[in-house]
Amino acid sequence: MEKGLLIIISGPSGVGKGTIRNFFMNDEALKLAYSISMTTRSPRIGEVDGRDYIFTTKENFEQAIENGELLEWAEFVGNYYGTPLSLVEDLRNQGKNVLLEIEVQGAMQVKEKCPDALSIFIIPPNMEELEKRIRGRRSEPEEIVQQRLAKAAGEMKMVKDYKYVVCNDDPQLAADMISLIIKRHMQNADIYQES
Ligand code: 5GP
Repeated sequence: MEKGLLIIISGPSGVGKGTIRNFFMNDEALKLAYSISMTTRSPRIGEVDGRDYIFTTKENFEQAIENGELLEWAEFVGNYYGTPLSLVEDLRNQGKNVLLEIEVQGAMQVKEKCPDALSIFIIPPNMEELEKRIRGRRSEPEEIVQQRLAKAAGEMKMVKDYKYVVCNDDPQLAADMISLIIKRHMQNADIYQES
């Protein structure tokens, strides 16, 4: 069976990656599977362990790093985030196109290890809108909001390291653009497979 694509979606925290994903994730033609990350951050209201993240302790996370169980990992605003390697490989071997929703340091590690990975960066229409969205979550203290905003400014500079850039002015439109990019790459993979 043909191995599935590895798709990286990055963009500053609060840009709306999850919202966009909900618009295209269930499109069967895309054959997608979402890679559930491990994190040491506490769950937000409504987040479910094993669905949104695998919530874990710092000790367990550090053990996973040491055991080489992560495809990539990063520290982000005081917490660890990482992608379990075995799950990604299993899904890709089943022909699924695996979606990683990760920040920029992790994305660069994946690009290094898997140069064929398809990388997409989502930008906000402007930084004021991003701030509004981060604050709109109302789930974090001001200090963390400030750290996320400062981080976002640095992350925006990484846009040049991605193959595609999509602006999230309208989530449905952004989702349609991402679907199109994925479909195009699936066709290309078929062409390479046949030749
Ligand atoms: P949040 O705390 O807002 O859920 O996530 C913070 C940032 O970490 C977001 O940019 C999110 O995309 C990113 N992130 C989530 N999972 C992973 C992961 O497994 N690895 C890396 N490097 N970043 C992640």
